[in-house]
Amino acid sequence: MIGAGTMGTGIALAFADAGLPVALVDASGDALARARARIGAYYETHARGASIEPRGDFDAVASADVVIEAVFERLDLKREIFARLGAACRADTMLASNTSTLDVDAIAAAAPHPDRSLGLHFFSPAQVMRLLEVVRGAKTSQATIEAAIALGKRLGKVPVVVGNCDGFVGNRMLLGYRREAEFAVLAGATPKRVDDALENFGFAMGPFAVADLAGIDIGHNAKLERIARGAAPPFVVSDFSDALVAAGRLGQKTRKGWYRYEPGDRARYEDPEVASIVENERKRLGIALRDVSDEEIVERCVYALVNEGARILEEGIASSAADIDTIWLNGYGFPKARGGPMRYADDVGLPNVLRAIHRFAERDPAFWRPAPLLIRLAESNSRFNLVVGAIAHP
Ligand code: NAD
Repeated sequence: MIGAGTMGTGIALAFADAGLPVALVDASGDALARARARIGAYYETHARGASIEPRGDFDAVASADVVIEAVFERLDLKREIFARLGAACRADTMLASNTSTLDVDAIAAAAPHPDRSLGLHFFSPAQVMRLLEVVRGAKTSQATIEAAIALGKRLGKVPVVVGNCDGFVGNRMLLGYRREAEFAVLAGATPKRVDDALENFGFAMGPFAVADLAGIDIGHNAKLERIARGAAPPFVVSDFSDALVAAGRLGQKTRKGWYRYEPGDRARYEDPEVASIVENERKRLGIALRDVSDEEIVERCVYALVNEGARILEEGIASSAADIDTIWLNGYGFPKARGGPMRYADDVGLPNVLRAIHRFAERDPAFWRPAPLLIRLAESNSRFNLVVGAIAHP
């Protein structure tokens, strides 16, 4: 494991729990000290499966069957690591990147044998979350994919093979879902109303509660990084995260984010400071207050998932609607009883979903362009679960 930060240490714990010994490498002594403390605390409450050996050098990679990098999210750095790994590892060692946004092919190309390279996108906390996106690069071999699926299962994860694109499947769909949640707030619903509506629909946690748990700065930095590389989504996104971060509202860790928190208590309290941040943003964007029903909140957020899911399916980034559903059920708390966003859309009826999207498009045509696949399936009264594809090789 290269990189002993949040993800690297969590992934190392997942391996050790599965009985697979790990060398956990980091360039920073402080990071290694933090990793040691976290591993120690973990084994006060968990049985130790296999050893984790924190270390500052790369020597262990020469005998590794699998190397996963989880260093900072920078392409140049990841390519440098892959070049080093390519020179130091056996020719049959699987080389994986835990990148969440970077181009897996650009990383893989830095090492010889790109057929054995791929993305293994774990979710935080990696020792707990079961979803694993197995990202197939343009040159990843079928044998490497099969080995990665077997490895994922050995780790007790739910591996889903996905294609290489910004955000892969889960995070790519998340963008529009979050945008619509913020849109509902701009139109007049409070964050609590939006969270309640989605939790009543069956989500484990609403989007604002999730943002507070994950840290507002995480999504904010990802947004800044997207803008810096010219990959900002082609539709208006609010600047809420700028205002929240500027006000020191990073979420639960600072006891204030979209909500306010009391010490030793995870209950969410509404906060007038957030109401005024919302008011400012509403004025800045010139959005008029109106009534937003719970039904509209759910439709906007869930159909945003469905519409992007349809694009993902059509592009071959996911090989089936069921795979998309598996990702949303296991990584994003989508209500189990509803079967996942694509299955839910099939049950609602695609003509009904399309009608709602056309309605939303009247005010907001840039975002609510219906996916061509959704239009085709709705017109023929078909279903997403009848679409069979294959992961596209660019
Ligand atoms: P982090 O900052 O907690 O950890 C990164 C670690 O990499 C640091 O400890 C740093 O010292 C180490 N490092 C940097 N350069 C190094 C080098 N040359 N050699 C060895 N170690 C080096 O970051 P993180 O949150 O664990 O994220 C790591 C990766 O995982 C990123 O690519 C990120 O996009 C991805 N990811 C993060 C999350 C998340 O929720 N945090 C989820 C999925 C994927």
